Amino acid sequence: MTGKSLSEFEIIRRYFTRRARRAVLGVGDDAALVRAPRGREIALTTDMLVGGRHFFADADPERLGHKALAVNLSDLAAMGAAPRWATLALALPRVDARWLAAFSRGFLRLARRHGVELIGGDTTRGPLAVCVQIAGEVPAGRALRRDGARMGDDIWVSGTLGDAALALAALKRKIALSGRERALLERRLHAPAPRVALGMALRGVARSAIDVSDGLVADLGHVCERSGLAAVIEAARIPLSPVVKSKIKQPVAMNAVLSGGDDYELVFTAGRTRRRAIARLSRRLRLRLTRIGRIIRRRRGGSLVTVLGDDGGPVRLPRAGFDHFG
Ligand code: ADP
Ligand code: MG
Repeated sequence: MTGKSLSEFEIIRRYFTRRARRAVLGVGDDAALVRAPRGREIALTTDMLVGGRHFFADADPERLGHKALAVNLSDLAAMGAAPRWATLALALPRVDARWLAAFSRGFLRLARRHGVELIGGDTTRGPLAVCVQIAGEVPAGRALRRDGARMGDDIWVSGTLGDAALALAALKRKIALSGRERALLERRLHAPAPRVALGMALRGVARSAIDVSDGLVADLGHVCERSGLAAVIEAARIPLSPVVKSKIKQPVAMNAVLSGGDDYELVFTAGRTRRRAIARLSRRLRLRLTRIGRIIRRRRGGSLVTVLGDDGGPVRLPRAGFDHFG
C-alpha cells in the first residue's frame, strides 16, 4: 500500500502479526522467507473473496475470516498437501477495529488448528475483498492431481453434499426451511471444514482428487476433462444430510446436491483394490466416505459426467457449476 498511515502499520501489527515458527522470516519485511524441505514440493494456491459477489458486504467478519482461509485450505487438501504458510491481502472500505478483531480471530483460529502461519500480506483501502494465498508441502511426485484418474476407478466423495447450496437457496427464499434446518445448513455455508487430514491420508490411495467448490458435476467434470475420461454416478448413492434428504424431492434440493458449490468436500477416484483401505480411513478419520460411481471411457459427443436417477436413466442436469463469467 502506498502512502503509509500509522493506522495501516497499526492494523498489521495488532491484528495480523504473529510469531513465525516454521518460516525463516514472517510479517515485517518486504517478503517472507520459507525453506523448501528436501524431497518435497511446494503446493501453492490462491483464492479471492469479493464483497457482494462471494459474500454479503455485511457478512459476519469472524466467519468471513474463517471462510477465506478455509477455501484455500480446501484446495491444498485436494492436492494432498500439508498446509504451512499463508499470506493475506485485504481491501477495506474503512478501518473498523471490531470488524478487524473478529476477522483476524476467525482467520487465525483456523490457521492455528491446521498449523498454518500467516507470514505476510497487503492491506489497502478499497471495496471489501479478501485474497488469501496459501502454500503447503507434499512429498515430491505424490500430490493428488486432477489428471490422475484411470478407467474403471471408483469415484468417492467425503461428507455430505448440497448443504451449503441449500442454505444459500433458503437465504434467497427459493425454499422454505425451519429455523433449526436453516441453522444446520448455514453452518456448512459459513464455516466449511476443509478436509485437510483426508487429503493427506489419500496420498498413495487415491489416483485423482478435487474439492467440491463449484458443484459435484462441474468439479468431477474437471477431473474427467484433465484425465481424458468420463464419469457415471448414481444419484441415489450421493451422501446427503438428513435435512437435504428430507427435501430431495424438490428440484432446488437436487440441484444443490448436483450443481451447488461451496461444500468443500473432496471428490476422489481410486482403484477397486483400495475399497477396504478407504473404509478403514473413513473409520479412522470419523468421516463418511461414499462410493458414488465410476470412471468410464469418454465417448465422442458423450457427456463428461452422467448422473443416473432411480429409474436407471440419466438425470437431466439443470445447470452447470457456478461460472463467474457465465
Ligand atoms: P510493502 O510496502 O513492502 O508491501 P507493507 O507495508 O504493505 O510492505 O507490509 C508490511 C509488512 O506487513 C509486510 O511484511 C507484509 O507482508 C505484512 N502485511 C501487510 N498486510 C498484511 C496482512 N493483512 N496480513 C498479514 N501481513 C500483512
Ligand atoms: Mg504492501
